[in-house]
Amino acid sequence: MEKIRLGKTNLMVSRLGFGGIPIQRLSEADAVAVVKRCLDLGVTFLDTANAYTTSEERIGKALAGRREGVVLATKSTSRKREGVEKHLNLSLQRLNVKYIDLYQFHGVSDKASLDMVLAPDGPMSVAQKARDDGLIKHIGITSHQIDVAKEAVTSGKFETIMFPFNFVTSEAADELIPLAKKHDVGFIVMKPLSGGMIDNANIAFKYLFQFPEILTVVGIEKTPEIEEIVKILEGPLTITSAEKKEMQKLRDQLGTKFCHRCDYCQPCSEGIALSTVMMYPSLVRRLPPEHLFSGFWGQVIEKAESCTECGECETRCPYHLPIRELISEYAKQYREEARKYPKQQPKT
Ligand code: SF4
Ligand code: SF4
Repeated sequence: MEKIRLGKTNLMVSRLGFGGIPIQRLSEADAVAVVKRCLDLGVTFLDTANAYTTSEERIGKALAGRREGVVLATKSTSRKREGVEKHLNLSLQRLNVKYIDLYQFHGVSDKASLDMVLAPDGPMSVAQKARDDGLIKHIGITSHQIDVAKEAVTSGKFETIMFPFNFVTSEAADELIPLAKKHDVGFIVMKPLSGGMIDNANIAFKYLFQFPEILTVVGIEKTPEIEEIVKILEGPLTITSAEKKEMQKLRDQLGTKFCHRCDYCQPCSEGIALSTVMMYPSLVRRLPPEHLFSGFWGQVIEKAESCTECGECETRCPYHLPIRELISEYAKQYREEARKYPKQQPKT
């Protein structure tokens, strides 16, 4: 697979990277097999996080005996030096490696968090010492908020920035990607399928592959998924006028107020599965009604009616979505639509 230079890290990485979120849902044997298949296909960048439960350990097992040539990235959500120290040690243990190629500050999506990361004697000083000690090779940051991401890029403290980018959420194309290039900060794409809202991998990846110097990380759960994307990368990459129309149609359908499924809004005090409820417009389009209006989805979506309007979730959403309004509207729509399927028996 073609390789690109990841900004000032000078690391050469495959244009396509592996994202370690979905393998948490698999058995360990299946997870290890998926990672190995990605490596076999030429994917040399593997991204995981302390927060992704079993992901680091499973990637570590898949890497046994084949660490060389792989660029391994993980992250910490902690904003305190003790927390970062603990996460870093855990990552090294779980991944079973002597060093991590790229250590990232995870989900830094407001100015206060960025200030905490960069505070004197704070998390950044831990990462810098780890770099001096050879435990990590490079320092990066991930964010969902454009102004924070721009500030991080211009701060000179980070060698990479990971940010959501796809043809629906494309704001990074205007300023952030050029800014990263100007400062020689490696740009890493997260959410290439917009958190599951884009179900056409062909147009999603063709769009991203128009940008020659960015690394696209995609979460992989099944080997056919990575095989399909590798095939798309092999070309042709020209976007046809029919594909352009398809992209515009999806942009129009989704608008700007849609959930990116990052789950930063959690925990909800009432236990509402917010990102799942927020997927309702996409579920209506994609699932057969007899499945969607079954007992399982009913329990999840109608749970939104127990919202107490505390507003906590909205303070944590990096996209400033009016979560209370949206989940209430989706629960209402669900109840109304479900009436059309009165004979549907609950399924579990
Ligand atoms: S506003 Fe509603 S959905 Fe949000 S955290 Fe509070 S109870 Fe949960
Ligand atoms: S509501 Fe906001 S914070 Fe929650 S999953 Fe969606 S985009 Fe993320």
